[in-house]
Amino acid sequence: MRTLTVPSTTPATTAPAGPGRQALDSALFQLDQAADRLDLDDSLRAMLATPRRSLTVSVPVRREDGRMDVVQGFRVQHNITRGPAKGGIRFHPGTDVHEVTALAMGMTWKCALAGIPYGGAQGGVSVDPASLSARELERVTRRYVNEVLPIVGPERDVPAPEVGADRRTMAWIVDTYSVNAGYPVPGVMTGGSATCGGAPERAEATSRGVRFAALRAMRGSPAGRTVAVQGFGKVGAPAARHLADAGCLVVAVSDSTGAVVNRSGLDVDALRTWSKETGGVHGYPEADPLSHDDLLELDVDVLVPAALEGAITEENAPRIRAGLIVEGASCPTTPGADRVLADAGVTVVPDILANAGGVIVSYLEWLQEAQARSWSAREVDARLRGLVENAFDTVAAVSVECGITLRQAAHVIGVGRVAEAHRSRGR
Ligand code: NAD
Repeated sequence: MRTLTVPSTTPATTAPAGPGRQALDSALFQLDQAADRLDLDDSLRAMLATPRRSLTVSVPVRREDGRMDVVQGFRVQHNITRGPAKGGIRFHPGTDVHEVTALAMGMTWKCALAGIPYGGAQGGVSVDPASLSARELERVTRRYVNEVLPIVGPERDVPAPEVGADRRTMAWIVDTYSVNAGYPVPGVMTGGSATCGGAPERAEATSRGVRFAALRAMRGSPAGRTVAVQGFGKVGAPAARHLADAGCLVVAVSDSTGAVVNRSGLDVDALRTWSKETGGVHGYPEADPLSHDDLLELDVDVLVPAALEGAITEENAPRIRAGLIVEGASCPTTPGADRVLADAGVTVVPDILANAGGVIVSYLEWLQEAQARSWSAREVDARLRGLVENAFDTVAAVSVECGITLRQAAHVIGVGRVAEAHRSRGR
């Protein structure tokens, strides 16, 4: 296998190494494997390994006490050959250009796999939103948007909320962009509030997609299947709710404050209320406390990692007892862990398939706007389900036919479609 690296002229190798480097190495490894299977030539490999645009900006933050801090912000457009760039915006202290590049690359394959006409992008600001007042966070968000403004926009690159960002953040983005444009531009992002042009179905779309992918992978009744969910945020909490609605028994969840377990099943709504009121799942009275590591290694049928990348590693993979892992998070499993899990017969529904629901509903939102018509929530959900299940079945068929894992199959399809788009456009 030829080993892909990002060419040294891109910021991905000039920035200091950080936790995101592993995510980028994993992303390049997945691309490398798919490129081998597709027998791609070196120039196409290099194009697919390299972000089309990568912007690093300085974001000054005036603190309430008058101090001025400076944090870094990023927007990486990995590929725009199949359509405008699309991808999340993350606010997290560990965010760096490597991580953002890896997530942008994953977005490219995800959109291609789902068959929707978008390229892949990702943005991020290396700041802990919990350490900022609301006014400081607003100032950071608006300044970041001003800095990346030249490369984002409805026809070019459309952000959505991701880790540490929410509907309020998206409203500030719409407002800042619109003030600069001189007219309202709600289409500059997806995943915002309905008052800012966001579709109500978008809020839980990623989690709905996790549910559809999980149920497809279970190949049988979900009734009574035990589930543990790592991460109780925008993806994890609604995913727990939707899996419980489908008949599963959600027995454990975690967030950055801790983990809780109740073998008789958690009341997900009560836990969400507790988490909103107290700031996290820690201390929830109707469950026992658990360590973060123990949650991942619980004896359950299904594990849903829905927090950050690199949760399942070569080190802890041998102790994972779930027979099915459905990746709500992006890049939660390292390639070393993948090998261990495959050898142990654990089925892993990869991120680019399992968490595609959000971008799929963003596309459905765009379709409705373009056709000047609106579908009911039921119709949107049926289309989302159709696209997720179709992608799942295609991936499963390639996996069986080629004797490869679902992740490898998903990358062969996603990378293959992007490579084909490059060839058909003559570059
Ligand atoms: P979020 O900020 O809303 O939630 C993240 C959750 O993870 C929080 O509950 C946080 O406390 C928890 N967490 C952080 N570190 C943890 C740890 N070590 N152990 C347990 N929990 C921990 O973010 P989100 O939007 O839900 O995104 C979560 C993941 O899903 C990310 O990997 C993101 O890339 C992926 N994703 C999100 C979307 C989306 O629509 N929001 C779409 C596709 C992929």
